[in-house]
Amino acid sequence: MDQRDGWIWFDGEMKPWKDAKIHVLTHGLHYASSVFEGQRAYGGEIFKLRQHTERLIYSARQLDFQIPYSADEIDAANRAVLEANKLTDCYLRPVAWRGSETISVPARENTVHLAIAAWVWPSYFTMEERLKGIRLMWAKWKRPSPETIPSTAKAAGLYMICTLSKHAAMDAGYADALMLDYRGLVAEATGANVFFIKGDEIHTPLPDCFLNGITRQTVIELARAKGFKVIERHIKPEELSNYDECFLTGTAAEVTPVSEIGDFRFTPGIGCKTLIDAYTDAVTPKRQAAE
Ligand code: PMP
Repeated sequence: MDQRDGWIWFDGEMKPWKDAKIHVLTHGLHYASSVFEGQRAYGGEIFKLRQHTERLIYSARQLDFQIPYSADEIDAANRAVLEANKLTDCYLRPVAWRGSETISVPARENTVHLAIAAWVWPSYFTMEERLKGIRLMWAKWKRPSPETIPSTAKAAGLYMICTLSKHAAMDAGYADALMLDYRGLVAEATGANVFFIKGDEIHTPLPDCFLNGITRQTVIELARAKGFKVIERHIKPEELSNYDECFLTGTAAEVTPVSEIGDFRFTPGIGCKTLIDAYTDAVTPKRQAAE
C-alpha cells in the first residue's frame, strides 16, 4: 500500500505517496492516539463530506486532542486530494494522530498531524452477486461499554478487536464477523452496521456502544422514505430467527446483504434490493446537488 504512485495531503502539503512517512516513536502508533475517517467519492463528489469531517473533528476531541485545521480546510484538503490524483470514484482516508515529540503516555504537547489519502476501491460485487449475500460468523470479541472506551469515536484503538474478529472469520471461510456488545446484545460487524428486515419493518441495534455510521443514518432515512417502519432497539442474538433479510451498511460496504450469521439464515430479497437501489441513487452526484 505504501509503494504506489500518487499524492497524499500531509500537514498542509501534497506529498508524493511513497514519501508520506512518520517516525517510529509516533505517539499514535504506541498508544492509539489516532482517529480516522472513511468516505467515498462518486462522480467527483464526496458523499456526506461535511458529516465525515465533523465526525473526524469530534473523534479527535473524544481522544483529548484538536485537529489544527477547520472543517472548511479539511473539506478543501479532501477535494484537493481528489484533484491531485485525478480521481472521481474512490475511497478517501483522512487520519489524524499525535506526533513523536515525547513518547510518554501524557502527550498534550505533541504536534497533531493530519493526512488524507485516496485510492480506487470499487464495490466488490455486481448486483446479482451482492444479492446472494455474504456469510458472517459470530465474533469472539465483544464491543466494550461506553464506560470502558470512547465508543462513539472513530478511533484506531477501537479497531484492535475488529482486526482480530475479521481475521478469525476469514480463517474460518467467512466474509466477516458479527460482534455482540458487552451485554451480549447484537452490535455490528467489524466495519459496518447491521439491519434486519421482516415484511415492512426494519430493526437495527441502538448505537449506544458502537459507531452510529453515516451510511446507517442515510439508510434509515431512505428506508423511511420508502415506507419501511424503522425501529432502533436492543436486539438479542436469539431473536434473529424472526427476520427474513439482513444487510450491512458502511461507507466501504455500502448496502451489503447477508445470507448467514452463525446458525441463522436469511434470504436477500426485495427489501435489500430496494435499499441498494435507493442508496445507489442517493450517492449519485445529481441527487447530492439537489439536496
Ligand atoms: N462500524 C464500524 C466499526 C466501522 O468501521 C464503520 C465504517 N466506518 C461503520 C460502522 C459504518 O460507518 P459509516 O457508515 O460511517 O462508514
